[in-house]
Amino acid sequence: MHVTARELILRLANPFTLAYGTSTARHNVLVRVEHEGAFGLGEAAIVPYYGHSTDRVITALDGLGLEGDPLLLEDALDALPPDLPAVARAALDMALHDLWGKRLEQPLYRLWGLNPARAPRSSFTVAMAADDGAYRAQLRAAAERYPLLKLKLGAGDWRADLRLVQIARESVPAALCVDANGAWSAQEAAEAIPRLAELGVLFVEQPLARDDLDGWRELRAALPDEHPPLIADESVQGVESLLPLAGLVDGVNVKLAKCGGLRAARQMIALARALGMRVLLGCMVESAVAVTAAAHLAPLADYADLDGNALVTNDPFRGVELQAGYLRLPNAPGLGVCERE
Ligand SMILES: [Mg+2]
Repeated sequence: MHVTARELILRLANPFTLAYGTSTARHNVLVRVEHEGAFGLGEAAIVPYYGHSTDRVITALDGLGLEGDPLLLEDALDALPPDLPAVARAALDMALHDLWGKRLEQPLYRLWGLNPARAPRSSFTVAMAADDGAYRAQLRAAAERYPLLKLKLGAGDWRADLRLVQIARESVPAALCVDANGAWSAQEAAEAIPRLAELGVLFVEQPLARDDLDGWRELRAALPDEHPPLIADESVQGVESLLPLAGLVDGVNVKLAKCGGLRAARQMIALARALGMRVLLGCMVESAVAVTAAAHLAPLADYADLDGNALVTNDPFRGVELQAGYLRLPNAPGLGVCERE
């Protein structure tokens, strides 16, 4: 099997301001694995704050030869180079799954026996804005199309964050969840979260810094038994990072780009279930290639945040679609993704 990799520039509809900074485009890597006239597609999400580089991922993948038979998917995945970064591994894993499904002439969810009707509705992300007026406008535009909004927080302090959620609650009828992207200390989170609960927030993602394990412990002890589920995102990367969080978080955000692809994501979901955790299936800013790959697992998740390609204006691919927040999986073999005309 032969691999080619090239840059895929995705332009953001709204400049994306997070706790980490602002960006207007993402430079991802599109991967194609060819075998005997068939091909599979995958995508590496290049997320600047994770320290990835588009050029390094292209160098690692372009021209690579892979061992094995696409029908023997597990063997082919086992034979991938061991030292690849997770985003590059995820791209090859997606492409190999796509090729496998195409050879078997079935969509991935069907090969796994999953019912696409069980996919939870997906949230749509609303970034912070320059001022209240712009924020309200963003919220209203999003709420016209999506019934569940994920508010990105990290405005500077937890009171400013709480204010953003209050503005949202007053401006739109949509259901709300929040992602603090690690902006709070345990004490701040313990102040903020009961107030977020009063505002009807469905879950709170990554309130604490990525490595703040003591903070998770402290926060857990400080919160009342009834609280919106705490979902770890940055604190969870690969499968092995799940166990230390058992008993400290209520759920995990599983993303292909963090764990290294569909096989690892399925392992993580199984482990999270065994540990009594809820599962949020997330994505990065990605084209329909990577978002659709993740969407095939959505029937296994409690929550979905698969809006990555809905945030970009120039997605060259068509795959899963968000209709009023509901995920409509394509019915074509493999990932079921095709190029837009
Ligand atoms: Mg997050």
